[in-house]
Amino acid sequence: MLDLELTPGPIPAVAGLFGLAIGSFLNVCSLRWPVDESVVSPPSRCPRCGEHVRWYDNIPVLSWILLRGRCRFCHEPISIQYPLVELTTGLVWAGVFAAQGPTPEALRGSVFLTILFGISLSDARFYIIPDQFSIGGAVLGLGLAFLPGGIDWKGSLIGAVVGYGVLWLVAVGGTWVMKRLFPGRLEEAGVDRAMGGGDIKMMAMVGAFVGAWGVAETVFIGSVLALLVFGPMASISKRLIPLGVFLAAAGAVTYAWGQPLLTWYLTAVVGVGR
Ligand SMILES: [Zn+2]
Repeated sequence: MLDLELTPGPIPAVAGLFGLAIGSFLNVCSLRWPVDESVVSPPSRCPRCGEHVRWYDNIPVLSWILLRGRCRFCHEPISIQYPLVELTTGLVWAGVFAAQGPTPEALRGSVFLTILFGISLSDARFYIIPDQFSIGGAVLGLGLAFLPGGIDWKGSLIGAVVGYGVLWLVAVGGTWVMKRLFPGRLEEAGVDRAMGGGDIKMMAMVGAFVGAWGVAETVFIGSVLALLVFGPMASISKRLIPLGVFLAAAGAVTYAWGQPLLTWYLTAVVGVGR
């Protein structure tokens, strides 16, 4: 859980700078992995004129501001998504280290939130959750569970299995129900299942970081978010927001405020302990 008391200092500042660089890499990963491109080669180019991005034009946030959001060569606009993703990732790393102090847990939390952010970027744009984020993230989460503090490796492993299993059941069960209640509807939407395989693998990653109870909370919060946001959004725009985006937001909420939310839900809503 994240302490709401933030302690600023040199370590969160360094973590924030590191986060800016991670954010710069996250831009590349979230755009290239969904279309099966390498993140190391070719080097970044301007999508308009094809010129290589020079190293001094690739400094997170700063270069975009100095170039006033335009390519040095063809002066075409560069998407504001690049500096925004860098800035957000930097703030996440600074924030988690300010909340957790210089601990292994701060590293785990920052990595988890970064992966969730990458997943929502890829899923929102391409409707794809790359295996590098989901399966790669699950392996990373299991590995980081061996660090002292926080979830242990058994909890992480069980979380990954439960995350995968629960979503697999929802996908299979949901498909079965959809096919009987609304025959032909899935085919109409051009999908063969009620939920994508990417979401299932993603929840294995979430489970590896937050454990089995965290999976339950993430699925619950994600469903509430989807219901609250999905209906209104679907009537405004025709563009579907993929489920992965809601699950990613819910995973972040679960990591940061899962424990107080659960306590509040059990006492205020369910009435346990009253
Ligand atoms: Zn250009």
